[in-house]
Amino acid sequence: LSDRLNGVFKKFRGQGRLDEENIQAGLREVRLALLEADVNYKVVKEFVDRVRERAMGQDVLKSLTPGQQVVKIVHDELVDLLGGEHQDLELRAKGPAVIMMVGLQGSGKTTTTGKLALHLRKDRKMNPLMVPADVYRPAAIEQLMSLGRQLDVPVFQSTSQMNPVDIARNAVAQAEAEGQDVVLLDTAGRLHIDEHLMEELANIKAAVNPNEILFVADAMTGQDAVNVAQSFNDLLDISGIVLTKMDGDARGGAALSIKSVTDKPIKFVGLGEKLSEIEAFHPDRIAGRILGMGDVMTLIEKAQTEIDEEEAEAIGKKMQRAEFDFEDFRTQMRRLKKLGSLESLMKLIPGMGSIREKLGDMNMHEKELGRVEAMINSMTVQERKQPKIINPSRRERIAKGSGVDIQDVNQLIKNFDNMQKMMKKMMGGSSKGKKKRMPQ
Ligand code: GDP
Ligand code: MG
Repeated sequence: LSDRLNGVFKKFRGQGRLDEENIQAGLREVRLALLEADVNYKVVKEFVDRVRERAMGQDVLKSLTPGQQVVKIVHDELVDLLGGEHQDLELRAKGPAVIMMVGLQGSGKTTTTGKLALHLRKDRKMNPLMVPADVYRPAAIEQLMSLGRQLDVPVFQSTSQMNPVDIARNAVAQAEAEGQDVVLLDTAGRLHIDEHLMEELANIKAAVNPNEILFVADAMTGQDAVNVAQSFNDLLDISGIVLTKMDGDARGGAALSIKSVTDKPIKFVGLGEKLSEIEAFHPDRIAGRILGMGDVMTLIEKAQTEIDEEEAEAIGKKMQRAEFDFEDFRTQMRRLKKLGSLESLMKLIPGMGSIREKLGDMNMHEKELGRVEAMINSMTVQERKQPKIINPSRRERIAKGSGVDIQDVNQLIKNFDNMQKMMKKMMGGSSKGKKKRMPQ
């Protein structure tokens, strides 16, 4: 999905401006890419419609190219589709909190039970009890016991007389008595949805009123996972989704569709067989990953908020009148800095990996900028506004104040003087009708 969409965005990036025709053409490809990634067709249709609507009605943001704007819209809509904000586990309870895992056999319920037990203990300092609420397969119980030994997390011991509802009820009572504050119910799964299983799950739900009913879905099963999710949600009103096996070559479509078909949040993703390989689900991160753009969106957003258009305009006018002084110069430099270090900026730009070696160089420039700012800081306001008054004794003082050689100060003032002369030449000659240039 990522590769495909990247191709689409490349085309967009080359466009000078957005018009109905190129938006339509681009969106056709976005649509194909999503369908190919196994996203539910209804979901795709609604998605593309929303993006089109927004792209057509866009106020043109000066700081973004048309390509970036479309990428941003697609990204925002993807985040929305994936659930917007990250949704945490809801574990407030009078007694122990109860998390019930449901899903088909082989989806990863038992593994995820172990992963969550580890996460809850390690990251939330909770004290979990794992419960095999599966009386049909002795091997399933043994699997959980083995995870318990591995993690050193207690596992509820059922007797052969107990049915799954008894097990769940007794386990919660035992947790309460023994001071475990969260109970993880690993329920039985079937290869297909069947009535008997659903009834049993509904009975467990009624008996222990879980805080969370997490539907565990195998991301590799694509559209099937979507249909199964819908059935489980209809019958149990699930509270969230765990998408496992996202480390495989899952095409990502299931993640997009399950959320929108069930309207329940994806809370975790499983990224491997190891018990540490689980991650909280963050829609914005996954959207970025799907778009394969590194953190480019972060970059665009930064640029948008940090560059105050009015300020840029005011400075442009000053440059035109050659009134640009050290005060303005420092403002510009600080703005550059606000965007982050040059190095971290570079990292945000995709495709920059190949020129990372040159970063040593970049860092030097950053240091240089720091020295320049120190020198400007050591000037009085008057000196900044009228660099001409900076005579040798003032230069001496500035050098001492900023901890540089006097030659450095001389160089700075000389460069600045040259820059002003250049500006005068460039700006002075421009005709009235011509649009002014913004400083880059
Ligand atoms: P259950 O029948 O739903 O309890 O499923 P299991 O927890 O027994 O998992 C079935 C298989 O999927 C096992 O081989 C697990 O190791 C594997 N599995 C579970 N989660 C993940 C995951 O996130 N990534 C990968 N690669 N394998 C997983
Ligand atoms: Mg199992």
